[in-house]
Amino acid sequence: MIKIDCLVVGAGFSGATIAERMAAGLNLKVLVLEKRDHIGGNAADRLNDSGILIHPYGPHIFHTNSLRIREYLSRFTRWRPYEHKVLAQIDGKLVPLPFNLNTLHALFPAAEAHRLEQQLINQYGENARVPILKLRESDSENLRELADYVYRKVFLGYTTKQWGLRPEELSSSVTARVPVLINRDDRYFQDTFQAMPSAGYTALFRRMLDHPNITVRTGEDFFLSRNQIRARRIFYTGPIDAYYDYRFGRLPFRSLHFKHENISQERFQPAGTVNFPNDHDYTRCTEFKYLSGQRHPDTAIVWEYPAAEGEPYYPVPRPENESLYKRYRQLAANENNITFIGRLANYRYYNMDQAVASALSGCGVAA
Ligand SMILES: Cc1cc2nc3c(=O)[nH]c(=O)nc-3n(C[C@H](O)[C@H](O)[C@H](O)COP(=O)(O)OP(=O)(O)OC[C@H]3O[C@@H](n4cnc5c(N)ncnc54)[C@H](O)[C@@H]3O)c2cc1C
Repeated sequence: MIKIDCLVVGAGFSGATIAERMAAGLNLKVLVLEKRDHIGGNAADRLNDSGILIHPYGPHIFHTNSLRIREYLSRFTRWRPYEHKVLAQIDGKLVPLPFNLNTLHALFPAAEAHRLEQQLINQYGENARVPILKLRESDSENLRELADYVYRKVFLGYTTKQWGLRPEELSSSVTARVPVLINRDDRYFQDTFQAMPSAGYTALFRRMLDHPNITVRTGEDFFLSRNQIRARRIFYTGPIDAYYDYRFGRLPFRSLHFKHENISQERFQPAGTVNFPNDHDYTRCTEFKYLSGQRHPDTAIVWEYPAAEGEPYYPVPRPENESLYKRYRQLAANENNITFIGRLANYRYYNMDQAVASALSGCGVAA
């Protein structure tokens, strides 16, 4: 029997943050169990056979508006400034995403694009970010048609592929989020801080977990080891339904199959990510050298195929799934020495900065 102050299940951003805070902030002895054979959770990266840094679980770009999270993570990494750009293939053209004035001009005849631009600016003001649901309610028939165009060409096909469901089968918040940007800002994210860890994510995780109070055991499933460990506190960042042995049924997740390729040419595509809203089975292709800035005669890309089966990546945003999650949450509320944190335990899509923020507040030890 191992006796320990604190057991952390999972070594992703949530688990690593909690372990670091418990060890360095409270001077507690921490054991981290991770069932995969590596640390970093879905944000882990590694070199492929040609020595190119890739993200096995899909491209991860760090962005945040939180100075606190940026400063906290900066203890464990330096940063390489990086602003991600995404192009979408629409009607045979590659155009910027999110849909902005440059996209408008690339897809519409010049006179019409100019007229729509003026209408958008007059109605919402320059630099506004207008959700397409709001655009659909516009007094102007032209703008309503534009909203429908964006919905059909940018959103509908991608969403249907991504979720295997039509938008009306998903929570309305999914459609509500799709924006039209009234500016020429081609960056995919608008956060004040956008960067990549300069030595990669796995190096960042190594430094977070490199503390004399922390022991990390990879390749070890909590459910197989729990009877041999006695911990005063447990932080569990795995799926909440698994913890309760799927008592009320499985919480639905959407999965992805990744097809990684190494290509013997320096560049493959004109932007970090290209989205395919309307064609093919894959949703997008990412070229990693944009993200890392690495120089190499080869390049590495990944195609993403949404899938019903596989690793749990995205909680499926439907009201009935939220209700099911709440039933599990009620069980969790009655526990006294275990805390459920992270994207799997909270059945939430978190960006990395949100995962860190939630872990910091959930473990109660300030950064
Ligand atoms: C395709 C994709 C792209 C993304 N891109 C971005 C992006 O560009 N920017 C961004 O900010 N965020 C991005 N994210 C979100 C990011 O991956 C999450 O914010 C982050 O992974 C959350 O960390 P976590 O620790 O909560 O979960 P995870 O990273 O999933 O870590 C949980 C860990 O717990 C382990 N575990 C589960 N059960 C057990 C068990 N029984 N025993 C032991 N270990 C267990 C798992 O193996 C896993 O390693 C992306 C997500 C996906 C799916």
